[in-house]
Amino acid sequence: MKYYSTNKQAPLATLHEAVVKGLAPDKGLYMPEFIKKLPQQFFENIENLSLQEIGLEIAKTLFDEDIEEKALENIVYDALSFDIPIVNVEKNIYSLELFHGPTLAFKDVGARFMARLLQYFVRQDGKENLNVLVATSGDTGSAVANGFLGVEGIHVYILYPKGKVSKIQESQFTTLGQNITAIEVDGVFDDCQALVKKAFIDNELNGHMKLTSANSINVARFLPQSFYYFYAYAQLKKLGALDIDDRKKETSNFVVCVPSGNFGNICAGLFGYKMGLPVKRYIAANNANDIFYNYLKTGIYEPKPSKQTLANAMDVGDPSNFARIYDLFDGDYNKITNLINGATYNDNQIKETMIKCFKHTNYILDPHGACAYRALKESIKEDEVGIFLETAHPAKFKEKVDAIIDYDIDIPKRLAKFMKGNKQSIKMPNNFEAFKEYLLTC
Ligand SMILES: *Cc1c(COP(=O)(O)O)cnc(C)c1O
Repeated sequence: MKYYSTNKQAPLATLHEAVVKGLAPDKGLYMPEFIKKLPQQFFENIENLSLQEIGLEIAKTLFDEDIEEKALENIVYDALSFDIPIVNVEKNIYSLELFHGPTLAFKDVGARFMARLLQYFVRQDGKENLNVLVATSGDTGSAVANGFLGVEGIHVYILYPKGKVSKIQESQFTTLGQNITAIEVDGVFDDCQALVKKAFIDNELNGHMKLTSANSINVARFLPQSFYYFYAYAQLKKLGALDIDDRKKETSNFVVCVPSGNFGNICAGLFGYKMGLPVKRYIAANNANDIFYNYLKTGIYEPKPSKQTLANAMDVGDPSNFARIYDLFDGDYNKITNLINGATYNDNQIKETMIKCFKHTNYILDPHGACAYRALKESIKEDEVGIFLETAHPAKFKEKVDAIIDYDIDIPKRLAKFMKGNKQSIKMPNNFEAFKEYLLTC
């Protein structure tokens, strides 16, 4: 499979090139040239398959000619080493719990897959070290750092906005050491992202070291996120929750709601749709950063500076993956709005949702999942069945969540372990020259 750039000014790339480059040379995002449909038989039997089996089937469809079969199987099985269960929260509403991985957030899936795929390619390339640059608004940093920890031949630099990620999140990427360096930038997430983007196109820097990205723009990060949409469907089917002729999109009553920031996660879900997953509609739930919501309403995409909110991993003012979604539907506004609905909630609404849900169902939402739960609940119809993606464990935001729902939530053991480590970080002004100078000494 070849990959093209959304800006259409770059040559086609192999998977290997697309994964190592991250961003295309024309600054566009890579997209597979075409999307193969999964066979009907796969859907007929899907409820009997495990997450790993489903993941492998989809990975083969996506990456078949590009990776040896046995190697692909190892990558998939190793990356998906934890469960992604659905939990019934109330009538017709299920939570897809994506927080059972090592850093308790959905980004573990893509980060673990990418680390293993990149290692596979670096080994093929021989000796030269690869440097991964990542901008994070919180959860990306921890998932990528832990996904790559100890992977030979790869060094990871995590850029994060000083004082704008929770202590718990920070501890997950500043306490690791080894091949992981945390860089604390005096700015907001968009500044971190801008520094990384500039580094990728700086000639001197690229002559000095081999750079790549592990943000959700990388095809190896976002494509594997399609696996769990199929697994959610398989679980609902197994429960008998989808009482429809569920093989056809036209008669599907399956609704999928995704709390969205940079839009990599929902984009992977939309790839699932293109591969044949029978979803009736998707909902993109935003916090107060309502750029996509406004696009759906007006047809005009207008980036804005990001606003800080309770759901801070979604504080994105210019979602990168919009370009992919736009391209996936040929830039056709009607096609996009026919399949995707939007919602936007401010911090007060997020709080109110967390309190109400806890009170009525006993289910504890994190602020990101709360946006999605509310968007689903407000729009679901009698005959529909919906999942919302619970993208992080509420304990990752313990101080805030405890205060909001007036409860002392448990901290899972694997999270408590990070909090005992020592913080190590490089302080960096929001200035590209300073960042470049630092990297030139590495
Ligand atoms: C990253 C993140 C999101 C947003 O995902 P995108 O793929 O950027 O849209 C939502 N929730 C949590 C907890 C996250 O870490």
